[in-house]
Amino acid sequence: MKKDNVLRVNPIACDGHGLCAELFPERIQLDEWGYPIVDPAAIPPEVEKHARRAIAGCPAVALLLTKRAATSG
Ligand code: SF4
Repeated sequence: MKKDNVLRVNPIACDGHGLCAELFPERIQLDEWGYPIVDPAAIPPEVEKHARRAIAGCPAVALLLTKRAATSG
């Protein structure tokens, strides 16, 4: 079965630094308290490096890429 990469945030680990939204604004917005709202859409290969840059930049190691059964294709 085909799998999609999806970006997730661990809300327990997240400290609300907001850096991820600066590094990957295409998919991460901040709520009114500065915590990330992550777009649940699949991360296509062409933007995966941006997602990985946000993951690497998170000081709380709260972002991760996980696999989900593909919703299309
Ligand atoms: S950079 Fe990490 S700790 Fe900061 S808001 Fe994003 S997920 Fe949370």
